[in-house]
Amino acid sequence: MDIKEKIYFDNAATTPVLEEVMYEMIPYMRIAYGNPSSTHSFGRESKAAIEMARKQIAKELHCNASELIFTSGGTEANNLSFHIAVNELKVDAIITAKTEHKAVLKAAEKYADQVKVLYVKTDPKGRIDFDDLDSLLTENPNCLLSLMLANNEIGTLLDLKKLNAVLNKHSVYFHTDAVQYIGHYKIDLSQLQHITFLSASAHKFHGPKGVGFLYIKKGTPVNAQLRGGSQERELRAGTENVVGIVGMNKAFELAYSELSERTETIRSLKDYLRSSLKAQFPDLKINGTEDDENLYSMLNVSFPPHKSRDMLPFALDLKGIAVSAGSACSSGSTAFSHVLKAIGSREDWPAIRFSLSHLNTKEEVDRLIKALTEIFQK
Ligand code: PLP
Repeated sequence: MDIKEKIYFDNAATTPVLEEVMYEMIPYMRIAYGNPSSTHSFGRESKAAIEMARKQIAKELHCNASELIFTSGGTEANNLSFHIAVNELKVDAIITAKTEHKAVLKAAEKYADQVKVLYVKTDPKGRIDFDDLDSLLTENPNCLLSLMLANNEIGTLLDLKKLNAVLNKHSVYFHTDAVQYIGHYKIDLSQLQHITFLSASAHKFHGPKGVGFLYIKKGTPVNAQLRGGSQERELRAGTENVVGIVGMNKAFELAYSELSERTETIRSLKDYLRSSLKAQFPDLKINGTEDDENLYSMLNVSFPPHKSRDMLPFALDLKGIAVSAGSACSSGSTAFSHVLKAIGSREDWPAIRFSLSHLNTKEEVDRLIKALTEIFQK
């Protein structure tokens, strides 16, 4: 099938790099290709591009440029936060939730022989039990709390008002994996005083893969995970991914300058997708929260038990439609998603995650419904 006829509904796994982003990156491969640590003009130009990116991203997030560290993406940013929390902040517990991404869960488990790793209760929609959180924080005052702003499989959003109310009562370090949230919602870090660490990844908002950043609140003692050169204020050694950082900056700038138009387009597409699916498959269940409590670009549904249960994403793929059965790392495998398991979803109901971008259309949704109908009629 011609690539132009294919349909991509897997934007939570990754997004296509926008043309404007690509064009912004090219000169840093062909012309300004210096090593940012070199003192000659080639190096200085690369260095200037990195610092410009840092400044512009910081401005949008209402933080200081010095509070941003460029990383290889969300996974590294999460791991770096936990590394600092255990080795520098000397926390004696990490509190997180079973519904988090593996890049949080595994990063926390790594320290299980040094600190307590505890999981706050969640409800069947993936929402945090704030009473349980309150008790856990009371019992473990010297901890790092890690909770994601938007769930990458079911789209459930963290209730920031309720979280703030709890965090106002405790003085703990708070890390948030904002990988699915950044680029979709405004973030004003000057108003989110409880956040110590925040992780982001460019490839989720139409930037390149292999680049992201970690916000570390000013005054937090730091400790490098990668040792070597003195890049990133000695906090992250290794020659910087200049091309990636430039691309991320452009993608970030576009995501926020076009935020309201994109949000409107995607929101109405999600509404259309939900109502079309419900009309065709009245018994389907929606996983996670709904409406404003859910990421407007994501819809995770479970279909009634069907003989081709594990084959649904593959059957759609054969028809040129890309979706995910769970998170990106579990798509392609038939293992039941750890998030769906954590919220008590039934394993015999095949779940599909549809994740949309502003590049999707209603016609694509119509083709999806037709394809699903054909698969279920077989
Ligand atoms: N955290 C969340 C919520 C994600 O969705 C992902 C990507 O799937 C990651 C972390 C990992 O990010 P990266 O691919 O940039 O390492």
